[in-house]
Amino acid sequence: MDDQKSLLRRIPAVDRILNEPALSRLAASCPRVLLLESAQEIVAELRREILAAPAKAPDLSPAAVATMAARRAERKLAPSLRPVINATGTLLHTNLGRAPLSESALSAMREVARGYSNLEFDLDSGERGHRYAHVEELLCRLTGAEAATTVNNNAGAVLLSLTALAKGKEAIVSRGELVEIGGAFRVPDVMAAGGVTLREVGTTNKTHLKDYREAVGETSALFLKVHTSNYRIIGFTASVSAPDLVSLARERGLMVMEDLGSGMLLDLSPYGLPREPTVREAVAAGIDVVTFSGDKLLGGPQAGVILGRREAVEKIRRHPMARAMRIDKLTLAALEATLRHYLDPQEALREIPVLRMLAAPPDEIRRRCTRVKRRLSPVAEHAAVEIVAEPSQVGGGALPTTELAGFALALSPKKISAHTLAERLRHGRSPVIGRIQEERFLLNLRTVAREEENDLLQAVGSALCGDDSCGGNR
Ligand SMILES: *Cc1c(COP(=O)(O)O)cnc(C)c1O
Repeated sequence: MDDQKSLLRRIPAVDRILNEPALSRLAASCPRVLLLESAQEIVAELRREILAAPAKAPDLSPAAVATMAARRAERKLAPSLRPVINATGTLLHTNLGRAPLSESALSAMREVARGYSNLEFDLDSGERGHRYAHVEELLCRLTGAEAATTVNNNAGAVLLSLTALAKGKEAIVSRGELVEIGGAFRVPDVMAAGGVTLREVGTTNKTHLKDYREAVGETSALFLKVHTSNYRIIGFTASVSAPDLVSLARERGLMVMEDLGSGMLLDLSPYGLPREPTVREAVAAGIDVVTFSGDKLLGGPQAGVILGRREAVEKIRRHPMARAMRIDKLTLAALEATLRHYLDPQEALREIPVLRMLAAPPDEIRRRCTRVKRRLSPVAEHAAVEIVAEPSQVGGGALPTTELAGFALALSPKKISAHTLAERLRHGRSPVIGRIQEERFLLNLRTVAREEENDLLQAVGSALCGDDSCGGNR
């Protein structure tokens, strides 16, 4: 008991801690209130630790306690939302922010953000302009659509379009296309929220044109097609092609809307991806309204694109709900710059990070693994490093059955578990997210930019050694 008391007495006072160099050197960069709070928290935690387990006495020297408090203060000071290194190999990782932006998209955002812009001002006439005009012409040129508009995200695009075109009426959807995209977005729920009655037709695996035909009634407003972005129905299946559905719709005076999900502007089949319908093909088939995301395979910022026939797009754009989902100027700047790349498909493949990563040949990834492995030689006593074949997923609810062949570095730590390594890598200065497989930690380089390699090496070095002493200094 005496022991415990004397230990408690040995905890340095908060004032004393604040004057230690470890904390006082932070005074210039860290608000005093955060330093004070950190010191108080550490003192309280030490008290609790001593009371719980007096035998395991922590280091109570003022310098050691101040170092702990300094670490706490630095954590409070760090921004909550910050960059991480995605070494999972999944290109469009929704939890990791989906698509990284191209250099042009970044500078366009910066330019527009730092001052005023012609967001809703027509420089030719000197009169009020429209924010949507900045990307409409580009979108039409790239897809063949008559008109286009943009909102916050594709979920918004679908909800707004359904509401504007079919509120109080019925939308006819195949049972094979009642998609759920990550919990909150489920086609039946979106319909209900938009005041649209869902009329399901066909079966899970087969829907025929006659199913649609027989379902058309007095209150039917449109046929909705939804891209099965995150699953595939294989085996004994049938679905109705867009042109067939369009001719039936024309015959019955209905509209056709298609939620394409990812919205491919280029045919990526030369890169080993399945042949997916491009936006241009959907428009050419006569679909009245096509919607897709800005930050999936398009490789731009979070946005929802709505395009197609002028009359339908106008109706959507004029709906009061459109104002509540309006796209902001930074997104618009990034979207415009991203779309501009597509005017030259080769440029798109070179400049848009998602497309570049997608098209990276396995050999190139293996060469990078070899180079990074060589630079990891200083950590040899802490971990065995191997190069292993490791496929990539596209992710983000796109191309669910596609695997891109590639390579990863497999780290087998010698002194800590793979889980501890993963945890340390998440908590480093540049957090690294990878995958654990049988006591190995995998770093898939397909999703790691070349410019991130130095930070990756630094992070792995200090995570394995537990400090900054190895792993290639910057
Ligand atoms: C991803 C996706 C959505 C949602 O798009 P967000 O841009 O994430 O809102 C909707 N429908 C389909 C088919 C999708 O793949």
